[in-house]
Amino acid sequence: MLRRSLLSRKALAYASAGTIVVTGGGYYFLNSGPAYPASTRESRKPPPPWLPPTREQNLNVLKASGSGDEDTKLDILIVGGGATGAGVAVDAASRGLKVALVERDDFSSGTSSKSTKLVHGGVRYLQKAVMELDYEQYKLVREALHERRIFLQTAPYLSHMLPIMLPIYKYWQIPYYWAGCKMYDVLAGKENMESSYLMSKGKALETFPMLKSEGLVGALVYYDGQHNDARMNIALVMTAVKLGATVANKVEVMQLLKDPDGKIEGARVRDNLTGDEWEVKARGVINATGPFSDSLLTMDNPSHKPIVQPSSGVHITLPNYYSPRTMGLLDPATSDGRVIFFLPWEGNTIAGTTDSPAPVENEPRAAEDEIRWVLEEVRRYLSPDIKVRRGDVLSAWSGLRPLVRNPSASNTEGLVRNHMIYVSPSGLLTIAGGKWTTYRAMAQETVDEAVKVFGLESRTTNECVTEQVRLVGSDAWNRNMFIGLIQRYGVDTEVAKHLSDNYGDRAWTVLSLAQPTGEAWPLYGIRLAPQYPYIEAEVRYAVRHEYALTATDVVARRLRLSFLNAQAAFEALPRVVDIMAEELNWSTAHKQEELARTTRFLQSMGLPPGATLPVPAPLYRGWWEWARTKIDSIAGAKKALSTSNGRAQFAPGEVDSLREAFVERSRDPTGRLGKAAIHELLLALPAYANVRTKDFEYVLEETGLGGKKDIDVDEFVEICAELKEVSAAPVTRAIIKNLNLRRAIPVEKSGGGV
Ligand SMILES: Cc1cc2nc3c(=O)[nH]c(=O)nc-3n(C[C@H](O)[C@H](O)[C@H](O)COP(=O)(O)OP(=O)(O)OC[C@H]3O[C@@H](n4cnc5c(N)ncnc54)[C@H](O)[C@@H]3O)c2cc1C
Repeated sequence: MLRRSLLSRKALAYASAGTIVVTGGGYYFLNSGPAYPASTRESRKPPPPWLPPTREQNLNVLKASGSGDEDTKLDILIVGGGATGAGVAVDAASRGLKVALVERDDFSSGTSSKSTKLVHGGVRYLQKAVMELDYEQYKLVREALHERRIFLQTAPYLSHMLPIMLPIYKYWQIPYYWAGCKMYDVLAGKENMESSYLMSKGKALETFPMLKSEGLVGALVYYDGQHNDARMNIALVMTAVKLGATVANKVEVMQLLKDPDGKIEGARVRDNLTGDEWEVKARGVINATGPFSDSLLTMDNPSHKPIVQPSSGVHITLPNYYSPRTMGLLDPATSDGRVIFFLPWEGNTIAGTTDSPAPVENEPRAAEDEIRWVLEEVRRYLSPDIKVRRGDVLSAWSGLRPLVRNPSASNTEGLVRNHMIYVSPSGLLTIAGGKWTTYRAMAQETVDEAVKVFGLESRTTNECVTEQVRLVGSDAWNRNMFIGLIQRYGVDTEVAKHLSDNYGDRAWTVLSLAQPTGEAWPLYGIRLAPQYPYIEAEVRYAVRHEYALTATDVVARRLRLSFLNAQAAFEALPRVVDIMAEELNWSTAHKQEELARTTRFLQSMGLPPGATLPVPAPLYRGWWEWARTKIDSIAGAKKALSTSNGRAQFAPGEVDSLREAFVERSRDPTGRLGKAAIHELLLALPAYANVRTKDFEYVLEETGLGGKKDIDVDEFVEICAELKEVSAAPVTRAIIKNLNLRRAIPVEKSGGGV
């Protein structure tokens, strides 16, 4: 009887269906996740050599376009060399159009090097889409998830998956977050990276030991992409060049040229290095100037109403001990509605939070109150045994987000959700807004529109192909390529990985420019900063192969040293300038100018204002290194409050002197002193004699010792450490006031791109 019912048709049908579902599900699971390019023998070999045209050749093409000859005239002139402009250049060039791109500063010097570096659909936007039943928002997330997959395939060496943890502090949040993350996975469909999963409290703390355990109930982990934004931007520019585009950094559009009918026919540009000006003629001009879109629109029509509402997002870089190497953390809804994230990036941790309204500036700086505010937010998430110090901020930067309003829309309509393409009556095509993740789709739409508006149908060779165009460096790259680099050149593993991840198959060319170290190991790869894997050969490569023209171009965008550690970039600067001088024949005066200019730039990224280069660049190495260590050890405590180091730390022996001073006063190693006595003791110490009462009180609050009656020797040392940080970045009344004010500001658009 049982046998008969087990073998009945119905039972067999159920069993077969079950087997098919399980097999299908298993197959889907095993084949889900990112598709990595296959490893081949080819990826052990350098790719064919390729040298891009020189800047001079590029300028000649731009100059020839103004000659009046139809053959030399450009099809499209793109203004702006950020993600948007570079993406448009790749798209237009890959359709066979004669295209040029001009950038007034450096490629990626604007917002595109200052993003959160996520390649993402936006979990927070999905939350908004669901909570507010907002179909448009839902479509944007879907599109971004689709682009995320293409992004990771077209530039596989520059981008990777990043697991991001959402800490959960309330039991009811578990189903809510779980459903949200699963919906994110489902929306990505077959383009998903890895499925999200739930973690117990114990597992969460094991993975992210820095996390505050109090009140934690568990965590959800979901996956998004991460990239190196400025290097991605350079890869786009170089890909466009390889496809035939002409590009020029440090060339600024000064004026738009119009024909007698008032239609745009080109632009007057200026070479910002030499001051030369000339006319560039093109069948159409695309305004891809991001937060500066209004300046070009005003050149076109002086009575134009501004469309950009900039908001700035501040990021800080912290040492790598603030996050695990391979897991980020994000809280999409803090108690007051803001967002906080810490993400591992290029060996350090970047943290950031809410955007705030800001004016349009060429070099926006992260204000001290904003830096402190991010630190305060970070502190709330970390275990109390981790002291979040101002001195741990290695670099800080501010990026301007161009929120745009469509000028053709009625006044009541709000800001554009994503990006906006607008064609002025003169034919100027403006593309603004959007995000890094969707640069390719934005470029496709822009060039589709440009082909129509500029009448370029007959000049294109094909439709958009950028879903398949792999960026320079991708073709012969695979994840094991770095092993070949080590075996061929004898570079250390960290350097080989760094080169492979930042240059793809071009890493072979970088290493072909490397000098021997003269040591037993590594054989090649002289580092520019001892704690980072950047090597001298990269500077030569940046000049010869990536149009780096100034030391700032190198330390900020070809290498990312200034974003990782402004002080380390400052210390590497003399050597960078020396190498560039060899490559570009700079005079001594030019070198000094470069040093001064780049030092100012590094100050905008958090280098203390007092920092000066101690000796002229050529003498820097060798005796100065030796002299500096001597001076450091002799000066000891006297240097306690020096501001020349970005990260205020105790000099050797200083802590012992402080302990001795405390014990002398308390007459007992385990004794305690009241706050007034501590203050007096500090004022009696030469290195702390100038401590202001205001700073002392601030530090007592910061260290949580304000409420204590008396203080022991360890707490005293902690106060001294904090005072050193305060002296490196003084706290003003305005900062304290702003911090309090900020806490009260409800923010709608936040998260530095998250
Ligand atoms: C804080 C922050 C975090 C972000 N995080 C993310 C993220 O994690 N993921 C994501 O997908 N997106 C993110 N974004 C969005 C993304 O960074 C931007 O959408 C993108 O970088 C904008 O690029 P763009 O080319 O339009 O602008 P920009 O990069 O600013 O480029 C415009 C360029 O035009 C040049 N220019 C201006 N005037 C002229 C002229 N007259 N002549 C020649 N050149 C000119 C400028 O010098 C500038 O280089 C973030 C944005 C911000 C602000």
